[in-house]
Parts: sequence; C-alpha cells; structure tokens
Amino acid sequence: MKSKIFKNSILYFMAASVLFWGLNVQVFAGSKVAKEKKLVLEWLSQPQVVEKFGKISDTIWSYAELGMQEFKSSKLLADTLEEAGFTVERGAAGMPTCFVASYGSGKPVIGILGEYDALPMLSQKGRVPKQDPVVEGAPGHGCGHNTMCTAAAAAAFAVKEAIDKYNLEGTVKVFGSPAEETLISRPYMVRAGLFDEVDAVIDNHSSSTLGTGYGKGGNAMYSVIFTFKGRTSHGASPWSARSALDAVDIMNVATNFLREHLFYTYRMHYVIIEGGEAPNVVPDKASVWYFVRNSDERVEEMYEKVINCAKAGALATGTELAEVKILSAIHQRNANKGLAELLQQNIEIVGMPEWTEEENAYAKALQKELGKPEKGMPTKTGKLRGPSPVFVGGGSSDVGEVTRVVPTTTVVFPGRVPGGISHHWSAVASNYGSTAWKGLNAGAKVMAATVIDLFKNPKELKKIKEEFDAYEKEHPYKSFLPEDAKPPLDLNKELMEKYLPLMKKYYLENK
Ligand SMILES: [Zn+2]
Repeated sequence: MKSKIFKNSILYFMAASVLFWGLNVQVFAGSKVAKEKKLVLEWLSQPQVVEKFGKISDTIWSYAELGMQEFKSSKLLADTLEEAGFTVERGAAGMPTCFVASYGSGKPVIGILGEYDALPMLSQKGRVPKQDPVVEGAPGHGCGHNTMCTAAAAAAFAVKEAIDKYNLEGTVKVFGSPAEETLISRPYMVRAGLFDEVDAVIDNHSSSTLGTGYGKGGNAMYSVIFTFKGRTSHGASPWSARSALDAVDIMNVATNFLREHLFYTYRMHYVIIEGGEAPNVVPDKASVWYFVRNSDERVEEMYEKVINCAKAGALATGTELAEVKILSAIHQRNANKGLAELLQQNIEIVGMPEWTEEENAYAKALQKELGKPEKGMPTKTGKLRGPSPVFVGGGSSDVGEVTRVVPTTTVVFPGRVPGGISHHWSAVASNYGSTAWKGLNAGAKVMAATVIDLFKNPKELKKIKEEFDAYEKEHPYKSFLPEDAKPPLDLNKELMEKYLPLMKKYYLENK
C-alpha cells in the first residue's frame, strides 16, 4: 500500500513537472522576467493551484447568488484568504457581503477588485451547449463573476508567495465587491474611504479574450426607485380612488417623450416592480425602478428631468410621489493608460492558455447552437485598446467610481466562448469547468505579475499617479450619491430565499 502511494506520488510529481515546465517554457518565451515575477508565474502554473481556484470558481458558479445576497460566495473567498494569512475585514462599507483582504506591509498599496454576484433568470447547466436550466427561473452566472474575485484571490495568493520569499515591501489588497450587476457597492466603498491609502487598483472581468484598454468609456448612472401612493377602492367603483399605477404609467409616458430631447449619449430603462395584485382592486402603491444613464457631465441634468416626469405623474393622477430612493449613483469609467500599458506587457508574457481538443469541440458545439462561426476557443491575445474616438454612450460599471479616486485599469481574461453572449445562458454554460479555470488562471497571472511590477518600479507607479492626478485636477471628483443614501441590503433577498433551496436540492440529487 505504502509503495503504491509512493509510486503514485512520483508519477504525479513527474506529470506535474512536465505540465509545469511545459507551461514555463511557453510563459517566458522571449521575455526576460525578474525573479519575483518568475515566482508568481510559476506558482500559478502549478496544476494543484489551477485546480484549487478552479474549484472555488465552480462552487461560486453553483451558488449563483444575486447582488447583496452573496453570503456563501463572499464567505468562501474571505475564508480562503484568511486561512492563508491575509487580514480580512468583513462587512466592509456597511455591506455584509463586502470584504477587504490584505497581506504585506508598507507602500505601495496595490488593490485588486473582485466580484461574485449572479444574474436573475439565467439558470443553466455547465458545459452543456444548449439552453438547459438547473432550476427554471433561478439565477445564473451569465457575466462570469464566479471567476473574477476568484482570479483576484489567486493573484493575491501568488503575490503573497513572492512577499514571503523575497521580503518584498508593499501591500496587496483584495476588494471583494458585492452587487456589481446592479452597480451598487463601489460608490459606497469609495465613500467609506476603503481606497484612501491605495496607490493603484487592478480590476478584472471575464471575456473571450486576454486583453486590456484605457481611457474614458461607459456611462455614468443613477439607479433609482420611484414610489407613488394613492387611494384604493373596489375596481368597479373607482371614482373615490387614486391609482398609484396610473402615476407610474404617466411618468413612463413622459420619460418616453423626453427621450427625443436628450443628448444621444443617454440610455434609459425601467421595470415596474410593484403595480397592484388584481385588476379589481385599485392599487394604492406602485413603484418603478429606473436606470438613468449619460456622461458624467450630462447625467445629473438628465436625472432632474426624470424626477420632473415623476412629479408630473403624481400631479396628473392626484397621487403622491412618496419616495425617490437612490440605490446607487456612479461615474463613467476612466481607465489609466500607464497601468494598461503595464498590464499589456504582462498579457504578452503570459499568453493565451492552450486549449484541449475537447474544449475546442465544446466551443464549436456552442457556437453552432448560437448560429455563430464555429471557430472554437480564442488563440490570440488582444492588442492594447484606446478609447473610442466618438463617445456614443453605453453600459455602466461601478468600477467607474473606483477609476475616479485611484488609478485603475481592467484586464479581461477568457472564460466565455467567443460568440457566446454576455448576460445569456450561453455565458453561464461556458463560465464553468476547465476553460473557465484556465481563463481565470491567465487573468490571475497578468494581475500578479503587474502587482510585482508596481512593487518593484516606483518610477512606473509615479508615472501612473501623475497621469491620474492630471485628469483629477481638471475634473475634481464629487460623489453623485446623496449623503443619506444607503446600500439596499435587502435587494434580491426574496428571490434568493426562493431559489437557493431549489438549487441546493438539485445539486444534492445530482451529486
Ligand atoms: Zn460583469
């Protein structure tokens, strides 16, 4: 028995070494790499490390917890970091699922952002190339956030190895950030001062390439719920009643007419979240949730106009605009160019993961199902992207808020099959298993190598900070959040209470 274990471990060691050195040759081909950087890249290349963080990612994928309810996901990550010797602050910035994990000492302080929230209604089985939910209507990881704070943690682990071995001066911090899909946590994290002592921040996102970019992009945004109060009565004798739903309808008609006169960079969308229960009971309460998006310069003015539409709804229907509740308010993203250039150098050192035949076959099957070119997994890393020459508006991310208080840039890594659609079952299907493991590992390598660069090259960091300071001097930062705004801790609570037991039951039955 003893000799068999010994023999197996020798074989395992040999197999691991082949893979390890195989990757090593590819990783460092043509690049001179400092010993500290070599260490983080080698450490992350170990098969057991790829597997450790791959399994964490898959576990978070199976939890599929919605924003502000990521209790299991954030705990798994915070526990893993704490067990490795990181100091972990839980419940940061007044949000139970927000954490900050730190390791090392002194300056510089380099942050890595990480997300772990899922999206509603996207439940899907992993690595199945057709729509097939785990639980009909349940949430799913359609944006790959299961891989993201996991990649951040893996990068920080590798940096810890280098700090310990080479006595490096500097601190690495993982910012576990809840509810990115509803753009909530970062403005509150900024307001709580979590980034005050941080010199630079690396953000990451799942994608279908390994790449980075810089400059201004995306829209600023207000996320806000308008609630109207009226007077109820029987639907068959409604003359004494005042319908709150009518106020929502009129507000929406008014905002839809407003569109014509908004500058074209805007985006605006809403859902009615409360509008009565039965047609024969006049609803005395109704609520509509708006995303109001435009550039930093135009979003406040646009928001005031939307408030006027709400007031018009109340006035026309004799109801009251009882509450205007801001859930979040964020700035546009302005990614740092110097940091992007540094990330790009490391992207070129790390290179695209090598995919197996099985992984390419799966990608092609998914691409066929979606009617996309059957090209398989990506083979080339991305080129450094600059900002679009014409700003036409677009989506938003609360990472924007961080880019306004500390030099910040995002690296994207492959997880999604090319041609797969973000916020769609196809992304859920491919953000699980071996391709996701390799993709997040490549992202972690780029981030860890860049933290080492920032630790070791004060000149590089100075350049990055000067670029940031020059922009901020021209555009002084001021939060869009009203002082009394609070993070909506109960967001998605009912949905998770409904779906978590059903998902758990599925996994227990299909073990
Ligand atoms: Zn996302």
